[in-house]
Amino acid sequence: MSGTQKQSMDITDLQVEGYERVAKAVDADSGLHAYISVHSTALGPALGGMRMWPYESEDAALTDVLRLSKGMTYKSAVAHTGLGGGKAVVIGAPKKIKSEALFLAMGRFIDAFDGKYITAEDVNIAVSDLEIVRRSTKYVTGLLAKDGGSGNPSPYTAYGVYLGVRAALGWKLGNDSVQGRSVAVQGVGAVGSELCRRLRKGGARVLVSDQKADRVQVLVDEIGVEAVDSEAIMGLDVDVLAPCALGAIVNDESIGKLRCQVIAGAANNVLHEQRHGRELRERGILYAPDYVINAGGIINVAGELGEGGYDQESALRRIERIPQALKEVWTIAEQEGIPASDAADHLAQKILSQAV
Ligand code: NAD
Repeated sequence: MSGTQKQSMDITDLQVEGYERVAKAVDADSGLHAYISVHSTALGPALGGMRMWPYESEDAALTDVLRLSKGMTYKSAVAHTGLGGGKAVVIGAPKKIKSEALFLAMGRFIDAFDGKYITAEDVNIAVSDLEIVRRSTKYVTGLLAKDGGSGNPSPYTAYGVYLGVRAALGWKLGNDSVQGRSVAVQGVGAVGSELCRRLRKGGARVLVSDQKADRVQVLVDEIGVEAVDSEAIMGLDVDVLAPCALGAIVNDESIGKLRCQVIAGAANNVLHEQRHGRELRERGILYAPDYVINAGGIINVAGELGEGGYDQESALRRIERIPQALKEVWTIAEQEGIPASDAADHLAQKILSQAV
């Protein structure tokens, strides 16, 4: 370990095998306590969001930043964004610790990576927070369109998921139209609600659940989705189950209840453990791996870093390649007789190995 001083902040590098740079920052003045992990820059600078969370321990924060940054490497590799994988976590409860001084200090921490890590929004971080961060570093994406950013990524994620749902229907059932198909959407927040709109427009029957009943009601009134109990959504006899709320929803408890043909949604880490991917395959359920199908947001944000800045049209054309990436994954899965979740990792590793 080696410590360096930048303004009042202590930045300590940690040696973690398989990771390019992992560092911890502690800033007594602002109360900042954070980690940044750059897993790989083999394909480009490491882009990944900044998460704020009241982790129970240092270990929990470190484990999370390592897991998430590696995930970003794989996601960006398969999406061909020209970016590597990184992530930042800030330890603490948002209501207690958020301050201008803390975000300015976080900007200085990011700046100490000299552009190898580029930040964006993630859990508990708002665009207004990033506006402060960017006063002390230029390595910030996901700002408002009026500030030269690409704006809210959620509609782009939803567009990619919609295209992915269609690709999955085509692969599994031989026809990629959503007309007359049934789709159960778990969670109708920023991404899920937009997905529902696209599905209804395409003529699908859409069944939704959300812990927030008002969000469901808005969609019942607006586009005629059907409200379903949160407990029941996983076991519906539908063509597609689209998880758009939480991770780990395919687990030992839920897997026996599934009656869908396809699982394709926006949520990250849908499988509780990698072995659940194998079980889905054995049950004949086609899985669209999470980081392949939900890459629309990162593809859109990556557009900010391209030559000439962000261009919506070219971002949309890139998102439209998600079905191709999924088909590549399912082809590998079939050829090698492995779960789609493993096939996605193999594809990412192959792309990475060709870069070095
Ligand atoms: P969001 O917070 O706007 O929406 C999530 C919704 O899920 C909320 O309405 C919440 O009430 C609901 N919910 C929570 N627990 C639930 C449960 N047990 N049953 C039913 N509903 C429940 O989040 P979002 O931005 O729409 O993202 C949805 C998922 O997609 C998350 O897992 C996120 O990590 C992932 N994702 C989002 C993006 C993006 O661009 N926003 C990109 C990639 C992945």
